[in-house]
Amino acid sequence: MKLKKLEITGFKSFMGKTRIVFPPGTTGVVGPNGCGKSNVVDALRWVMGEQNVRKLRGKTSEDIIFAGSAGNPPMNMAEVSLTIDNEDGTIVGPFNDYSEITVTRRIFRSGESNYLINRQPARLKDIQTLFLGSGTGKNAFAVIQQGNIGALTDATPEERRVFIEEAADVTKYKARKRDTESK
Ligand code: ATP
Ligand code: MG
Repeated sequence: MKLKKLEITGFKSFMGKTRIVFPPGTTGVVGPNGCGKSNVVDALRWVMGEQNVRKLRGKTSEDIIFAGSAGNPPMNMAEVSLTIDNEDGTIVGPFNDYSEITVTRRIFRSGESNYLINRQPARLKDIQTLFLGSGTGKNAFAVIQQGNIGALTDATPEERRVFIEEAADVTKYKARKRDTESK
């Protein structure tokens, strides 16, 4: 799965619309302390469906909405859009035919939130299905945060198995099996 671009508005320290493109060969994001590098990674995790705001270094969901800065009032909505290149058809499921897929997530201060796939309303489950097997889902390995390496070595065999199954692309089949069995 290739990331093409990330558009961030009102998420954490990003007030105006910020567009980050990932040309082939991108290997890093650099910048002074506190400039928002980790917030970019948080935005990526969030748009992919992360439900635990503590994993985004926040306490409540309001912490991920731009809180204001000198001369700039707080914002009422955070929005992140991630565009994925699917020329090679690695995304399985209903969106397989699209050469480009854009996933959008929004949250309002009122607590209301929604997801879109290619600008059409979607459910969290649709987003999770889209990213299954890509290593980016719940408990997956593509984003390794501080302390995660320790967590892997300290994990129980069952927990470690989840990482291995995601890496081996088995998770999506297990999820489908569970779905079928529950119908
Ligand atoms: P380091 O090099 O130290 O790891 P970094 O570039 O990763 O820094 P981040 O942690 O991404 O920096 O950004 C931290 C900044 O984001 C802080 O200045 C913090 O005040 C700001 N920030 C976080 N949440 C919000 C929010 N909701 N509204 C406004 N600013 C926020
Ligand atoms: Mg950081």
